[in-house]
Amino acid sequence: MKTMIDSPIASIFEERLRTPIDATYDVIVAGGGASGLIAAVAAARTGAKTLLIEHAGCLGGTGTYAMVAQWLGFYNGETRVVGGLPLELTEMVTDLGGSDGFSRYVLAEASNKPIPLVNFPFNPEVTKIACDRLAREAGVDVRLHSRVAAPMLRDDRICGVVVEDIGGRRAFRANVVIDATGDAMVAAASGAAFEGGEEELRRRRQPCTLVFRLSNVDVARFRALPREEKRALALEGVKAGRIFWESLSFCSTPGNTDAICLMSRIPEIDALDPADLGRAESEGRGQVHSIVGFLRERVPGFGRSTLANIAAHVGVRETRRIRGRYALTEEDIVSGKRFTDAIALGAGPMDLHEAGGTGISLWMPEHPFEIPMGCLLPELTPGLIVTGRAISATRSANGGSRHMGTAMALGEASGVLAGLATAQAVEPTAVNHQAVQARLRRDSALVSLEDAKAVALAT
Ligand SMILES: Cc1cc2nc3c(=O)[nH]c(=O)nc-3n(C[C@H](O)[C@H](O)[C@H](O)COP(=O)(O)OP(=O)(O)OC[C@H]3O[C@@H](n4cnc5c(N)ncnc54)[C@H](O)[C@@H]3O)c2cc1C
Repeated sequence: MKTMIDSPIASIFEERLRTPIDATYDVIVAGGGASGLIAAVAAARTGAKTLLIEHAGCLGGTGTYAMVAQWLGFYNGETRVVGGLPLELTEMVTDLGGSDGFSRYVLAEASNKPIPLVNFPFNPEVTKIACDRLAREAGVDVRLHSRVAAPMLRDDRICGVVVEDIGGRRAFRANVVIDATGDAMVAAASGAAFEGGEEELRRRRQPCTLVFRLSNVDVARFRALPREEKRALALEGVKAGRIFWESLSFCSTPGNTDAICLMSRIPEIDALDPADLGRAESEGRGQVHSIVGFLRERVPGFGRSTLANIAAHVGVRETRRIRGRYALTEEDIVSGKRFTDAIALGAGPMDLHEAGGTGISLWMPEHPFEIPMGCLLPELTPGLIVTGRAISATRSANGGSRHMGTAMALGEASGVLAGLATAQAVEPTAVNHQAVQARLRRDSALVSLEDAKAVALAT
């Protein structure tokens, strides 16, 4: 390809690209994280020819490559609110030896407001294997190490995506595209309206966290410490500038001899800015070094621990949220608002980390909450569905809907919606929500408060 810069002072390098179209699919899912993996499998199980495109070398997203190794959002108190495919994935991970199953856990146990809840801790490496298997068995075509670079648009309708990979650039056509990138990358590039790009908000995003794993930890010894002692240690570490927030949060893989630590806290990062994102990784590693020294020196159970891994990617809590046909609010969650087009249930907790400082707003909604189909449908872009962290919700509601159990439930609904749109040859917005609900229920997904109550009564 010949290119030319016509003037030595030019500030724009104009490219003319001719991108080969590689294949045509019914459904393309951009991003193979919690939500995207499940979306692709759900779409494929409706009979749709499905392609899943993932930037990293593995599936599972933040849960695997960023090592956030516990799924929340499956339970509100004792009530299970997620079933279907996400539950099937937990069973697969457990069968492969990657988890001991759901367990009782205290979130942010050294903070001033710990929350007891039910989590699903897992070994992220085994989970990568389970994710591969789930996708393969459903017949999903998976392209790893492939980045969705741009949408293909025709008359403002999305009709595919352009991908960059080791071989260059190629395009894939699709009837429906699901944006599961967490950052609404495809939606934003398609001209969809979104929240979270405002300069003021970019400067006060929730902090990022670089997760790390220590081996040789006496987990039982640490867990047995009185809470006041854990809190005193956390405050001591923060005061000495050796740890970075008032939490000693970690989970453990089966065997309980390691600690996957969610303890770093990197403020003032706009993860949509490449320079900031890189800075988050190196600042994060500096924090990890400091935290490990403090844990080994001061915290019972960690004296003989060694640093085993640092996650391949910093954990990003907040970027964009699309403006959809409906925006979920905190008031909806608190009041238990009912929706005729409910397609998934959220559990909480409501979890909003202070942008600067070391605090966190953390509380459990009293009841599970319904999420309507309108949250997945961008206001303007035909052919596009958005799932996962970037669905249409206010900033505070997003604090309760971004957990991976919820993201997976939303993924299942998106995949079913995309599959039905293809089968009926209509836009996703024209699919009857009752058809989506019926298909989800047939597959044991829980879409309404009655569904969750029925499960509670049956168990
Ligand atoms: C530090 C931290 C702690 C958290 N703690 C918990 C917790 O304990 N439990 C819990 O349930 N949730 C937790 N969360 C929230 C949760 O991890 C995320 O909100 C959730 O993973 C969102 O799911 P998702 O599928 O939307 O995005 P992700 O899981 O992030 O997946 C998005 C995927 O899209 C891919 N992608 C992005 N752009 C492109 C592109 N252009 N082309 C191709 N692929 C692309 C990414 O590589 C990634 O695999 C935490 C989050 C953070 C950051």
